Amino acid sequence: MEVATGETVKSTLKEVFGYDTFRGNQEQIIQNILNEKNTFVIMPTGAGKSLCYQLPAIVQPGTAIVISPLIALMKNQVDQMNAVGINARFLNSTLSKTEMNKVKKDTISGDVKLLYVAPESLTKEENVEFLKKANISFVAIDEAHCISEWGHDFRPEYRRIKSIVGLLGQVPLIALTATATPKVQLDIVKNLMMEESTVFKSSFNRANLYYEVRPKQQAKKQLIRFIKEHKGKSGIVYCLSRKKVEEIAEFLRVNDIKSAPYHAGMDSNVRMANQDAFLNEDVDVIVATIAFGMGIDKPDVRFVIHYDAPKSIEGYYQETGRAGRDGLEGKCLMFYSYNDILKLEKFNKDKAVTERENAKLLLEEMASYAESSVCRRKQLLHYFGEESHAANCEMCDNCTHPKEQFEGSKYIQTVIKAVHLTENRFDINHIVNLIIGKETQHVKSYSHDKLEVFGVGRDESETFWKAVVRQTLFNEFIKKDIDNPGVFKVAEKGLQYIADPYSVKISKDHEYETEGEEEESEKTTVDAKAYDENLFEMLKGLRKKIAKQKNLPPYVIFQDPSLEEMATLYPTSQDDLKTIIGVGDSKAKKFGKPFIELIEKYVDENDILTASDVLIKTSGAKSKNKIFIIQQIDRQIDLEEIAESRGMKYEDLVVEIEHICDSGTKLNLDYYIDQLLDDDRQEDIYDYFMSAESDDLNAAFDELGEDYSEDEIRLMRIKFMSEFAH
Ligand code: ADP
Ligand code: ZN
Repeated sequence: MEVATGETVKSTLKEVFGYDTFRGNQEQIIQNILNEKNTFVIMPTGAGKSLCYQLPAIVQPGTAIVISPLIALMKNQVDQMNAVGINARFLNSTLSKTEMNKVKKDTISGDVKLLYVAPESLTKEENVEFLKKANISFVAIDEAHCISEWGHDFRPEYRRIKSIVGLLGQVPLIALTATATPKVQLDIVKNLMMEESTVFKSSFNRANLYYEVRPKQQAKKQLIRFIKEHKGKSGIVYCLSRKKVEEIAEFLRVNDIKSAPYHAGMDSNVRMANQDAFLNEDVDVIVATIAFGMGIDKPDVRFVIHYDAPKSIEGYYQETGRAGRDGLEGKCLMFYSYNDILKLEKFNKDKAVTERENAKLLLEEMASYAESSVCRRKQLLHYFGEESHAANCEMCDNCTHPKEQFEGSKYIQTVIKAVHLTENRFDINHIVNLIIGKETQHVKSYSHDKLEVFGVGRDESETFWKAVVRQTLFNEFIKKDIDNPGVFKVAEKGLQYIADPYSVKISKDHEYETEGEEEESEKTTVDAKAYDENLFEMLKGLRKKIAKQKNLPPYVIFQDPSLEEMATLYPTSQDDLKTIIGVGDSKAKKFGKPFIELIEKYVDENDILTASDVLIKTSGAKSKNKIFIIQQIDRQIDLEEIAESRGMKYEDLVVEIEHICDSGTKLNLDYYIDQLLDDDRQEDIYDYFMSAESDDLNAAFDELGEDYSEDEIRLMRIKFMSEFAH
């Protein structure tokens, strides 16, 4: 066969595709294919893989077979090729018998340059017979990670490709993927028996993407705020379930954001219409399950938000990869809660054992990514077997807000020793158990409690040591054992390090609150990271000043969670202020003014988006239960009676009343308390709260517990807060 010259290749690039230059290593890849060598292309999404097989298919005689898993994508590519005058066709289950025969006839007569085939069509016997008759230039296997159970998108039919292609005689293979971890890469090579292929691996670094992980607390508020800060820009919000997609899309719509849902359970016409609306910019934000985005080439997606944690780092990388394809701004924000990981784990419950174990490991890696304080970019690239040596990428939250670092040399040495002494055969949990001296069955059965490293790290926590193990990995002192998922081995560099250690700085992981509400609720607090610390300090200062003037303890004015939320939502009117947790009508009137003034000034000086811009509208009213309780108390009904009529325990009712009080509603319980305590005793408890540091109940029990019952203290606290704070 005649090999096309570099000139032909270049002119085809211009004439057919309209480009002047090749991107990255496209040209070398194409030459390699034209030289009839097996070729393995690993390139991040959007880098231009398709051209690598389309162009050589065009300049060569015969037909190139392209195996691709997605029918929709196939049609898309065929349309694109036909539009530029190239005869491309597809063979899949959507064709009628007649259409199928026509495609085959045209292929055999040599008219077709590219034939896209679904893997399940490839394995059909009649198609194998047909392919044997065709003049095939090469076989391209797109999305080759589908071969591996370690990819995010395993397709069992992909495993059979090699045996079929083997029947077609000597044809060069080209495998392409955007998701090659070293493990997946090895799987592909083994399965396709491409050991001697030329590998072209591009960098996976997406320098224009900013990566950020935030604790999933008050996520809806954060979401609205983020989207409003990027008003008019295109973005994708990924959610885990169809139900969540619907819910969030509706929530955005109610909040005046042009958005539409997208998931596989929707009517396909509606789904396509929503996709088009996004591509045509009739809607700004598409809320979707991971079903959205494959083959979508919208260059100016400015943000990708993971409302729920993704299932794997591969998935996360793919999805975030849809931001900033034009090389301009792309923000990738993920809301993380360990609860999401647990939820995902439950979904895997019914899978076969190995599949479940695999899924679990992938999830653990995801959790580790989110919790780690190491540069996000470094972690992602490391995951794809690529090292980044920049100390600070300046384009991720961990680099722009670094955690305090400390000397890690001795900890790292401990980890290396532990991996070494256990003969490179164990996972992170075992290594950590060993170091902290936990006598698990496993540890004892291997007599690892006899090792010199056993228990040397018992002064530090399990999470501390997990962070050290991961950083030992990122620093390449240990590495993953490619044949045994989850297992670590000591690297050459690690052995050298033990012999000749030097200073390595490490940091602790982030600690994300697992308690508390992830979405909206009246009693959630904003996590430390989410609020404006400067403003918070200023608000605290103001609170102190006013408390002094009024001769009240500061917490009576506003409690910390209220100030935190003010420092998140920047309320600048009485109405805004009332939406803040713990601030009711009367409290806003009584104490609000100076706070609003301070915030207004601050917002003005710092050019900040305010609460009215991010005001959250929800459809849910106050729960019926609460309204009932408030009404009953107004009517001075005894608490026992209220509890009984609601079918609640008395203690639960008191807790509910505390919630009502803490969220800013004034309640008058005098009618009830006066039956329990005389004036002197009431005075006594009052004095305590007046001088206390906070309204914390435990502290109050400690101080008053000998003379008063828990119930009395609780009720008096409600009375006190109602009188002074609201
Ligand atoms: P991938 O399959 O790797 O995700 P695509 O093949 O869809 O990426 O290509 C992504 C985009 O880059 C497409 O819009 C494509 O037309 C464009 N592209 C590919 N090669 C070049 C090139 N050499 N010059 C300019 N644009 C290119
Ligand atoms: Zn970074």
